[in-house]
Amino acid sequence: MATPAEIFATALQALDASGLRRRRRVVAPQDGAALLADGLTRLAFASNDYLGLARHPALIEAAQQAAERYGVGATASPLVCGHSPAHAALEDELARFVGLPRALYFYAGYAANTGIIPALVERGDALLSDALNHACLIDGARLSRADVQVYPHKDMTALERALITARGARRRLVVTDAVFSMDGDLAPLPELLALCERFDAWLLIDDAHGYGVLGEGGRGSLSHWGLRAGAMPERLIYMATLGKAAGVAGAFVAGPEPVIEWLMQKSRTYMFATGAPAMVAEALRASLRVIESEGWRREQLLRLGERLRAGLAGLPWRAPVSGTPIQPLLLGDNVLALAVMAALETQGIWVPAIRPPTVPQGSARLRISLSALHSADDVDRLCAALRSIAASGAGRGA
Ligand SMILES: *Cc1c(COP(=O)(O)O)cnc(C)c1O
Repeated sequence: MATPAEIFATALQALDASGLRRRRRVVAPQDGAALLADGLTRLAFASNDYLGLARHPALIEAAQQAAERYGVGATASPLVCGHSPAHAALEDELARFVGLPRALYFYAGYAANTGIIPALVERGDALLSDALNHACLIDGARLSRADVQVYPHKDMTALERALITARGARRRLVVTDAVFSMDGDLAPLPELLALCERFDAWLLIDDAHGYGVLGEGGRGSLSHWGLRAGAMPERLIYMATLGKAAGVAGAFVAGPEPVIEWLMQKSRTYMFATGAPAMVAEALRASLRVIESEGWRREQLLRLGERLRAGLAGLPWRAPVSGTPIQPLLLGDNVLALAVMAALETQGIWVPAIRPPTVPQGSARLRISLSALHSADDVDRLCAALRSIAASGAGRGA
């Protein structure tokens, strides 16, 4: 048998040949939306820090004070002794913010989804999953051993057929991103809820890219679709991550009290992992206050989004309207996507090329993500650079 080094050297060459090798950079923040990456300053449209909170002074101060008070480590899993007053207060505040009875905080979104799905369904249950769902929903579904049916992206007719097929299952759980992470489009929550009602199914939504951005006061996708405290469908379970617009780290699941209590009892990623440090929880409490009080950040994002979409019109690549800070520029081919990314880099601009398996085969793209830290000039600079690349033909030949 060949050694691991031999096997994987060959496998890595194959990744290179198909344009699928990923390169990690050493990145440090600069002013505004600029990043110092591998020693060069670049205007970046790459992060999920949509509101620009990751370096907000109020969050930094909250973390510093919490470090003094609680230390820097949680010291154990939350069910042993890793659940501090900061975590408890955060959960209460998150639940109130999204209008659901109770919330449970996880150290990462990946852990939340891979923990809660297997606690909700198991062998003999049906899990219905949108084709463009995030990887950790897919992994959670696999871990659950439920019978998984993937329906085409946002295809409610196909979902209805799948729900009919699943009628005999003990439980039916529909799982979807609320805002799709690589396209920025929204799942039709009212239609999903109506189907779940009709077929007696539950709905788990992952609002990683809606929390803080959409809805009244940044309350997320539930608020965006008009769902408010006191009027939440009982079959709904809400999950959102806190490392994106919230600017810190972790995630939470929220819903009816017995559901959340059950998830706390049974999610293995909650039980068997050290809790997030209390300073993270305090930074998140500060983040919540900033999300509520600094509405200009969301207004800035909306203005930048309109400017970007106007600026992308006329390019030879498709840029589907997203209505969120995530704007894909569909290039199709992996090598082409890398070529356009590289051409932008020569102009000091960083937009990540996203390739399979993060997106489906043949749908490689630039994923432009906006932040309240961007200025109108930043957006204009990106659009001008893309126009010059398109005109030079660099984006066509590969
Ligand atoms: C980023 C993301 C996650 C994972 O959250 P982390 O906190 O980064 O682990 C889960 N779901 C979706 C849709 C995401 O975009």
